[in-house]
Amino acid sequence: MEKQESHGKILIIEDNLGDARLVEIFLEQTNLIHFESIVHCYTLRDAFEQLDKETFAAVLLDIHLPDSHGISTLEELLDRFPEINVVLMTGFNDRQTALQAIQKGAQDFLVKGEFKAAELAKTINYSIERNKIIKRLEETQRMTNIGHWEVDLQTKSFIASEEVFRIFGTQSKETSINYEYALSLIHPDDVEEAKGIAKKLFDEKVTIKKDFRIIRRNDEQGYVSLTAKVVNVTDGKVTKVSGVLQDITQVKLNEIEILKGKERYQNIFNSSKDAIYVKQKTGGFLDFNEASKDLFGYSDEELNKIDYNSLFVNPEKRLEFERIIESGESVSDFPIAIVTKNREVKNCLLTANQMRPEEMTGYHSSVLSYHVIIRDISDALKAEQFKKEKEIAEHQSKMKEELLANVSHEMRTPMNAIFGFANLLLDDNLKEEQQKLVKLIIDSSSHLMKIINDILDVSKQTNNDIEFEEAPIDFKTMVMNLEDVFSNPSKDKNISFSVEYDSKLPDHIIGDPVRINQVLLNLCNNAVKFTDEGSVKLSAIKLNESEEDVSIRVVVKDTGIGIKQDHLPIIFQPFTRVANSKKKLYEGTGLGLSIIKAVIEQQGGTIDVKSEFGKGSEFSFDLTFKKCANPNNTEISNQADDYNEVDDKSLQILLVEDNNLNQMVAKKTILRQWPNALVDIAQNGKIAVEQIVKNEYDIVLMDIQMPVMDGIEATKCIRETLESPKCDVFIIAMTAHKNVKDDDKHFQYKMDDCILKPFEPKELYSIIHKYTSKKRTMERSYLSPQTKYVDFTYMDLYAEKDEDFKKSMIEGILNDTPPHVATMNQLSSNGQWEELQKMSHLLKTSFPFIGNATLTKSNETIDKTLKLWKDEKISDQEVRETVPPLVETVCTYFNHSIKEIYEEYQRLGGGAILEPELVANPS
Ligand code: ADP
Repeated sequence: MEKQESHGKILIIEDNLGDARLVEIFLEQTNLIHFESIVHCYTLRDAFEQLDKETFAAVLLDIHLPDSHGISTLEELLDRFPEINVVLMTGFNDRQTALQAIQKGAQDFLVKGEFKAAELAKTINYSIERNKIIKRLEETQRMTNIGHWEVDLQTKSFIASEEVFRIFGTQSKETSINYEYALSLIHPDDVEEAKGIAKKLFDEKVTIKKDFRIIRRNDEQGYVSLTAKVVNVTDGKVTKVSGVLQDITQVKLNEIEILKGKERYQNIFNSSKDAIYVKQKTGGFLDFNEASKDLFGYSDEELNKIDYNSLFVNPEKRLEFERIIESGESVSDFPIAIVTKNREVKNCLLTANQMRPEEMTGYHSSVLSYHVIIRDISDALKAEQFKKEKEIAEHQSKMKEELLANVSHEMRTPMNAIFGFANLLLDDNLKEEQQKLVKLIIDSSSHLMKIINDILDVSKQTNNDIEFEEAPIDFKTMVMNLEDVFSNPSKDKNISFSVEYDSKLPDHIIGDPVRINQVLLNLCNNAVKFTDEGSVKLSAIKLNESEEDVSIRVVVKDTGIGIKQDHLPIIFQPFTRVANSKKKLYEGTGLGLSIIKAVIEQQGGTIDVKSEFGKGSEFSFDLTFKKCANPNNTEISNQADDYNEVDDKSLQILLVEDNNLNQMVAKKTILRQWPNALVDIAQNGKIAVEQIVKNEYDIVLMDIQMPVMDGIEATKCIRETLESPKCDVFIIAMTAHKNVKDDDKHFQYKMDDCILKPFEPKELYSIIHKYTSKKRTMERSYLSPQTKYVDFTYMDLYAEKDEDFKKSMIEGILNDTPPHVATMNQLSSNGQWEELQKMSHLLKTSFPFIGNATLTKSNETIDKTLKLWKDEKISDQEVRETVPPLVETVCTYFNHSIKEIYEEYQRLGGGAILEPELVANPS
């Protein structure tokens, strides 16, 4: 006999000692079964204890025990120990129960009194083997997530393996399965389909396989694959079906993920601006996107047939990147030049890698293939190149501007001496002939200065950089004055010069007086210069007028030498001169017309010329100006200066200048007008500061460029380190740098005003007069409020001696301006330039009433600078450097001014308004 392996221990649960003993005897008698030992328990509780302690190969169970009765004994036992192998021992009458027990999970049953040793051994042996097989099956089911099920339609019973219940997240014992319950486990959207399948199964009796979504007991969604087949048909009716159920959730989720990934890739592939394609190493394209077609310029059919090498400027490069890919590496941003269908070469960056086998699904190819992304960087390269060129051009133009500014400065300094001394000479008692010669020196110097100014303007004109002031202009007087200006030169040439002003034109307009005068003078000057007989006539005509604007045409017509037709298009270009002939040489640089064209066009106007060679020319320009609502203001600027008001005995001026000749010019010019004035000289800024500490001065005339300490630094030192009132001394920049005056840079340096060298004596007298009279107003403080910063002339002019009206104007200023200035200060420290520009623009209309030039001008410069920044004409960096110091100046001067305005308000009787708070910390 074959040697059998021991199964282990056997447990008998039986309250009848006799029955138990009989079983023991049978087992001991037979050699058909090998076991280690037998354990006997009388009650179910004892059995539990025993089973908790050890494992048994088989459990022989009597279901009628003292502590448990009937089929529930088995249920309780299997519930606690689902793995055990139970063989039921029933009485003769319990056959029915025995069958039930099999369904509940018992392996077999023995009817007491009907079995002998051999049968007992056989049953136990079978049960052990069956149990092992079931366990293996369950294990397999668990591992594969497949459960088995069976429905008997006659008995209405449903049997399923544990795995089926696990899949649904339910427990076998708590579930009584019926059709409705089964449907409730299916995802609502799949229920109809499931019903259809069931119908098909019953109608057609075919095996069906279908995937469904299910809703598990914990509400989680899952996926199952159901296979069902009919196993029994009685009288043509299906009585039994069975099948398997597989949990395919993970597989499905993976599939979905893969699909999503593919979809995402497909989206990128389709919408990418970069060309993407899959290419076999030897063979054609497997796939390409729209961008590939756009890049290469070929259609689908053409690309499918194309010779791949023909797409590259240098096919060697293709081999180079392919070699890298074949070695298993990927290439990224590999520079490569491709050729399009139109033979256009494009510079690109190529990124590529070999396709892995799993990536090849869908592509029917067995050869090595790679995935390529090509980015066209031609435009980016061009932009980069353009940026570089622009930077170089900007740099060069800046250098040019600096060079011109320096040259102009260098020329102006000696010119100041020539011009100044000539002017001083003129006033001495000279003989008539000497006077004539000196006048010639003055004329020539003026002429030279005009050329120097023109050269500077040309550099601005090319940079689109001319800045325009907006001021009230007495345009009629300006135009009519031309008659006086040109009466002598035209008389000298024996030609007539006349001016006509359209009566429909307003007398006053708003514009840049210097620039507009420059245009008029230039055109008249040319007309007189190029006319040797006949006449020159200037007409100012009204074109259009709206509520705010007026459009003006100015025509300058001469009967001069004229311009040849083919020369007309070029005369507005810089350095163009076409009039010189062998017979006659006309003076000129060929700059004037190009400058005035820029001046007119940059203000939104147009200039035109008509000419007939030998007969004459007609230059005309159209410009639109704002109308002047308050022409009175122009009167203020036209007021004649009465220098004699200045008491020269008390006049003390500090002249800070390093050039000896210029020191002499300035000092002598001042002394000529005010012989008793005290003019001290400081060679540089450092000495100036020391002098100011020691002495009292009314005015400091400060050169900018000086050795040791320049004018900018010296002013900073005076303003920031000296005590009041020394720190408040009036400082006038006296500079040969035209840009300082043109761009109002002196305000940035905290200087009060600026005079450009070379200056006319009148200009110097006027500026000295202006600031000494301000000082006088200050000193009369015991009579009227001390207004050092505020000039009430403007307000008084508006108020026309009506003090109530003046007070209401002051109230307006006290209410509105302090919060605006505070906001401005805040916006400046936050670097909110756009908002700052708006605020500065808003204040432009209020500040003039305060009558403080520094305040008004600094604010105007802020507005102007930020407008240039908005038009991208100056950089952020420049704004950061220039605007905050100007805002500081505005705040400082505003704080001083508002105090004085409040004092005036009190003087006028005061009222509800409290003294405004000063703007915080304008350092
Ligand atoms: P400039 O007068 O200094 O030479 P402009 O730029 O003012 O320079 O003028 C350029 C050229 O246009 C002059 O040199 C001259 O040839 C021509 N031109 C200008 N105005 C007239 C005019 N009224 N009649 C004839 N030719 C003129």
